[in-house]
Amino acid sequence: MQNTKTGSLVRIDPLIDGFDGLSNADSIAYQLKHWVAGKPLHNVIRDECCPDFSCCSGGEMMPLKVRQRFNAAIEAGNGAEQWAILNMGLGMLAADMDVNVHVAGQGQNEN
Ligand SMILES: [Zn+2]
Repeated sequence: MQNTKTGSLVRIDPLIDGFDGLSNADSIAYQLKHWVAGKPLHNVIRDECCPDFSCCSGGEMMPLKVRQRFNAAIEAGNGAEQWAILNMGLGMLAADMDVNVHVAGQGQNEN
């Protein structure tokens, strides 16, 4: 895949360090801890990207404050805040890839 904005190739070998032997739940915590600390790792146990897709997109990470907000939302079980930040991540990915993204369910609570 070609990143149309930067012209760089999208990373096809995401960073996956340290997932060997982790349980499903532990892999989530491991990925989150490293992402918040500034190291985006693709969760190979769940085949799941970081909230901002930075593990695979080669794009920018969300700012530290947003990563910390996501972590706090996870700890608090605040699904609405998690959803809002995940949508932000999709927006960042779409901007990076120069494509339009529509999330299923988006706008259900509007009007
Ligand atoms: Zn990824």
